[in-house]
Amino acid sequence: MSEADDRGLAIADTIVAIASPPGRGAVAVIRLSGPNAFTIAGKHVRNWQQQPRVAHLSDFFDGEQRLDEVLITAFPGPHSYTGEDVVEISTHGGYVVPSSVVAALITSGARQATAGEFTRRAVLNGKLDLLQAEAIGDLIDASSRAMQDAALAQLDGGLSRRLGALRNQLLELEALIAYDVDFPEEDDGPISRDRIENAIKTVLTSLDGLLATVPAGEVVREGAIVVIAGPPNVGKSSLFNALLGRSRAIVTEIAGTTRDALEAVIDGGTWPLRLVDTAGLRQTTDRIERLGIEVSERYLGAAEVVLACADTPEDLDATVTLVRARTKAAIIPLLTKADLVSHRDQKSPNALSVSAESGLGLPRLLSQIESVVEEQCGPRMPDLPLLTRARHKQALEQARSEISDFHRVWDDDKLPATVAAVHLRAAILALEELVGAVDIEDVLDRVFSSFCVGK
Ligand code: GDP
Repeated sequence: MSEADDRGLAIADTIVAIASPPGRGAVAVIRLSGPNAFTIAGKHVRNWQQQPRVAHLSDFFDGEQRLDEVLITAFPGPHSYTGEDVVEISTHGGYVVPSSVVAALITSGARQATAGEFTRRAVLNGKLDLLQAEAIGDLIDASSRAMQDAALAQLDGGLSRRLGALRNQLLELEALIAYDVDFPEEDDGPISRDRIENAIKTVLTSLDGLLATVPAGEVVREGAIVVIAGPPNVGKSSLFNALLGRSRAIVTEIAGTTRDALEAVIDGGTWPLRLVDTAGLRQTTDRIERLGIEVSERYLGAAEVVLACADTPEDLDATVTLVRARTKAAIIPLLTKADLVSHRDQKSPNALSVSAESGLGLPRLLSQIESVVEEQCGPRMPDLPLLTRARHKQALEQARSEISDFHRVWDDDKLPATVAAVHLRAAILALEELVGAVDIEDVLDRVFSSFCVGK
């Protein structure tokens, strides 16, 4: 391993950071990692036996000055998060105490860690692969249960194992080609074309299976955008509140109050839904309201599902036409305020009747939204890992295109097999870069640029 990675972050340094979020809280966790972690921490804690993985209650001193009463735990490498000697110190929370403890550790020789540097070291020391490191970032950033599940599965190595199996298939294919080149006249004869063809098909099928999870991965990561659209005063904000089950939007009888778009996540089902309450769609001379309408038009363009709302069947037809002109999303027509009129009066063949007031039709609406999203993303396969990042998609698409190139060159049979095999090597490298099995310094930079300090 090199002494420093390409950002000049010397791994010989002992690094320190507060791992918990800043602000008032019962405890803060400070992490110290590197070759001198035990020596540095030892300067501040008296009678510390440094028993591995045993928390020790102690006073923490800066010279003669007592800074806090802390719980201190030693994790000798390689059995630690980073693979190095790690000390974790739980101090009291708040703004002053944790920072004063960190400052004391820095005075004794530690260096403030940069964002993601602990996890970066874990990767460099082989404790995690790059996909697992990303999963830790995703767990921290998760805004829905679905994303939490996907990140945890990735941390368990689900995606890494899939890619490992794919890489093995490619290595076998590469070996077959090499054998064919080196021993074309062997007793068994040349490797049969069928065998190579089948091997290529198997790899492409696995790759396509993974790439097919990209839409689901995007929705799990970002949430499906569900826009409530329609003319003012038809009950859009009331529906937004009723679906969320709590009051968030301002509900009023004056037309045109929701001037900006309001967003909230519904995280109850298989798919996280980003519900958006928009300004009413209508011609207006009010500049601020016009702005809100432009926002709603932008949301309509980005939506996965649009709930087209109106409180009469005639208005509903006009609303659906208006919405259809502004979006490619699936449209669910809704007749609102269904509690006010009897079903006989409110007829519209394809519309769902809902009432924010009584809750009528809301469970059906939610399950219909889920079905529409599922139609767009494909069903969630619990055993199939999801591709949740653009980096994953790009690497797999590159591997796929290299394998297709290999297939074409091999089929043409005009170039030597060794030339065709160059494409196989490129496909293998794309997979290795994705998992972090090759020289990964610049990949590390890209992955850890979004991490928080202390992770
Ligand atoms: P928006 O402008 O489309 O967002 O409409 P609001 O949600 O602000 O509602 C406009 C008016 O219709 C308010 O007076 C609401 O109380 C009323 N309203 C909304 N939904 C319902 C409903 O389901 N039933 C009844 N009876 N009134 C509703």
